[in-house]
Amino acid sequence: MERGKDLAKAANLIRGGKLVAIPTETVYGLAADGTNVDAVAGIFSAKKRPFFDPLILHFYDINDALPYVHSVPDIWYLLTKTFSPGPVTYVLPRSDKVPDLVTSGLDTVGVRFPRHPLTRELLAMLDVPLAAPSANRFGYISPTKPEHIEGQFTNEIDYILDGGVCDLGVESTILDLTTDRVKVLRKGSLSIESLSSIIGYIPEMAAVSSSRPSAPGNIDVHYAPSKPLYVVDFQTLELPENAALLAFGNNADHLLPAKRIQLSEKACTKEAATNFFAALHTLDADDNVDLIYCETFPDLELGPALNDRLTRAGREV
Ligand code: AMP
Ligand code: MG
Repeated sequence: MERGKDLAKAANLIRGGKLVAIPTETVYGLAADGTNVDAVAGIFSAKKRPFFDPLILHFYDINDALPYVHSVPDIWYLLTKTFSPGPVTYVLPRSDKVPDLVTSGLDTVGVRFPRHPLTRELLAMLDVPLAAPSANRFGYISPTKPEHIEGQFTNEIDYILDGGVCDLGVESTILDLTTDRVKVLRKGSLSIESLSSIIGYIPEMAAVSSSRPSAPGNIDVHYAPSKPLYVVDFQTLELPENAALLAFGNNADHLLPAKRIQLSEKACTKEAATNFFAALHTLDADDNVDLIYCETFPDLELGPALNDRLTRAGREV
């Protein structure tokens, strides 16, 4: 699988119905021409993703997105002015231009404006949106650098547009804008605090659901390493030799000298989010590690999004 920064090549592959992994500020996406049904079908088959899990359409800006949506509420303009390009996906009523396969037959579409400069340049070169879920096998850990993609795919992807390490490291926050009040369908890289400061209230959160097609990334087991990941209390933990710790800050220091990754120097949820998936990839690939322990993150800023990923990736003790 070739990788590089050749935008003309990436654009030509997309125009030809091929798959290109793209860098975003959240995680890497697996992109295809969002108007080409065969190309979009290729995303599902490469990921082994069930057809009931809809894809997000990525655009350069709001003007490019307008033909693909309708009846957009005023709040969309306010939110995009504040947060886009950036880690937010807006679920809006869709127009006929969006293929059914992209939305899994829903009458809404997820719309996002990614911030990574390479992907923005690619979007500017194309006259179609990019349909893209995260560039991982369905249910497995999301990729935050090209190596993570190379470890999961062989020749299913035609090119990796190499944009280095993703800035934020956790997926976009998904907002349902189809009713009067903004609803959060998936917690993500935009904190609820930042969102609330703009909309003026604390939004309702969609319930975690197992297989509802309209529930974004809300499938019980998701974002998961192949080794068991347990969410535990480090205070009461007895550590087997083959276990590794995924520590938030210095909360596991009393358990030295276990194999560990500390996600943040200063116990900052944003820093922990950036490192979270990469740490899971590292521990999953470590032959000396058979199981992984992690503690719940604090309930502020990106802590809730990380806890959401832990709930889905983790198992009951
Ligand atoms: P991924 O990019 O892999 O995180 O996947 C995109 C997520 O967005 C999926 O889990 C979808 O369920 C969700 N999504 C995409 N379109 C819609 C939509 N129209 N309504 C609700 N959720 C959506
Ligand atoms: Mg995903």
